[in-house]
Amino acid sequence: TTCDASLLSSAAFLQITVYLRSPSCDAVFCAPGNAGISSSGDATCISNLDTSDSLAVISFCQKWGVGLVVIGPEAPLVAGLANDLGKAGIPTFGPSSEAAALEGSKNFMKNLCDKYGIPTAKYQTFMDPFAAKKYIKEQGAPIVVKADGLAAGKGVIVAMTLEEAFEAVDSMLVKGVFGSAGCRVIVEEFLEGEEASFFALVDGENAIPLESAQDHKRVGDGDTGPNTGGMGAYSPAPILTKELDKGMSEEGCKFVGVLYAGLMIEKKSGLPKLIEYNVRFGDPECQERVLMVRLESDLAQVLLAACKGELSGVSLNWSPGSAMVVVMASNGYPESYVKGSVIQNLDEAEQAAPSVKIFHASTALDSDGNFIAIGGRVLGVTAKGIDLQEARDRAYQAVEECEMNRGCPI
Ligand code: ATP
Repeated sequence: TTCDASLLSSAAFLQITVYLRSPSCDAVFCAPGNAGISSSGDATCISNLDTSDSLAVISFCQKWGVGLVVIGPEAPLVAGLANDLGKAGIPTFGPSSEAAALEGSKNFMKNLCDKYGIPTAKYQTFMDPFAAKKYIKEQGAPIVVKADGLAAGKGVIVAMTLEEAFEAVDSMLVKGVFGSAGCRVIVEEFLEGEEASFFALVDGENAIPLESAQDHKRVGDGDTGPNTGGMGAYSPAPILTKELDKGMSEEGCKFVGVLYAGLMIEKKSGLPKLIEYNVRFGDPECQERVLMVRLESDLAQVLLAACKGELSGVSLNWSPGSAMVVVMASNGYPESYVKGSVIQNLDEAEQAAPSVKIFHASTALDSDGNFIAIGGRVLGVTAKGIDLQEARDRAYQAVEECEMNRGCPI
């Protein structure tokens, strides 16, 4: 069958992957898209479509005969865009707002873990800063303070000292830096170990696992500096075993979309504990193509099968070898960062090593036709290789070649 796919996502890779890899897909629209997508010509960017306005999205889909919508970011999912598109009869890959609360409220997620005995860090939830600090004092540092709601990956403070933890409580509960997202905080046991991500496609009844991937959270090379939304990733993740894959796929959940579990494989026990659920493809593990670069199946057809509740019997083909993405960020990220630095040598960087592909996250074109950085995480430099070492070497060869942040203060 033929489907026109409209993909609502802020990142480049998924749209392009669907378009290039899916013979069943006639056209891809991307809202809002970015300079990299529009320059590639692989998809049509619709920068003026407001994805928080369900009626506008529905009328766009009806006008263009869209056969599949993939909702990328968490905010429209939590706001209920999938509910509205579903009511309008438009096949939509992405969970309802109720199911998206798995990501939208950490308190909801932790309660669910309690209810179903899913291993996770010990925690308590607070709205009162004094009670939160009393608990923190009792537990001691290191300890983790989290805003309940969505905070674009910035609402988690891994506090190494009591002072840091108190400061986090004050900034969320007293100063309200995250607004209503931070009016409830979760204080959680600090887990030491290696992180891994687990993805499954879910059709409401059936779940099929995607390959594993691991990402790097800290901003600096060599795992240094503050936590970010993700600075790089690789796939497959060696610390995820097949047994774990199986256990997770049996953990069914009533929604359509991607269930992405962020796990900590605890050093002391070797066992996985759930850190978070995301209800969408992760960034950067999937979003910047580490997973997608290895997928050989027709993605549009697989996602459509998920929308129709027909995932049982679908199996996915993955290319052998490994993939790595290194995120290039604006100087200063994740704190306030320099905007507008000119990016140069992108073509040279893509040719610096075999299989390199550079994806744009937050770029725009200036009046001279140069790409400029307009956000924190700017480029996803990906490469494949026979193993992780080769994939990493290739990705970093491209990073070396690419010029960004030149002349910007660090
Ligand atoms: P994102 O969606 O961007 O991954 P988030 O805001 O949903 O972030 P979490 O995934 O809960 O937040 O936490 C972000 C990061 O903080 C984790 O990837 C991990 O590195 C660290 N972290 C979270 N909880 C703990 C914990 N209990 N112990 C140690 N580190 C933790």
